[in-house]
Amino acid sequence: MAGYKMMVWIDQDLCTGDGICEEIAPDVFEGRDDGLWVVKEEARYFGSTLVFDDAGGDGHGPEGPRGVARVPDSLIEDVIESAEECPGECIMIEPFNEALVAEGR
Ligand code: SF4
Repeated sequence: MAGYKMMVWIDQDLCTGDGICEEIAPDVFEGRDDGLWVVKEEARYFGSTLVFDDAGGDGHGPEGPRGVARVPDSLIEDVIESAEECPGECIMIEPFNEALVAEGR
């Protein structure tokens, strides 16, 4: 669990659905069928992929718009760039907090 510095989530009330975040950091952001974007923890960094879309089923899960994903150190710059470029200003970056790690991870 240790070793992460940053976490990220999206305030979906402000998301414009343009997908810029996923263009910059496709291993952290993912478009949903309803036109909103969510965060995720990708298998290549975390062993299995968990999409924070509040949907049921394997690899989908917790808390939807309130879900906070860990950011691998190698993706920190991309996530910062995504937040800077996000037209909705809705990519929220936080320091790593173990208490916010998704249950079961
Ligand atoms: S860049 Fe921001 S506004 Fe655009 S899809 Fe991503 S989170 Fe939503």
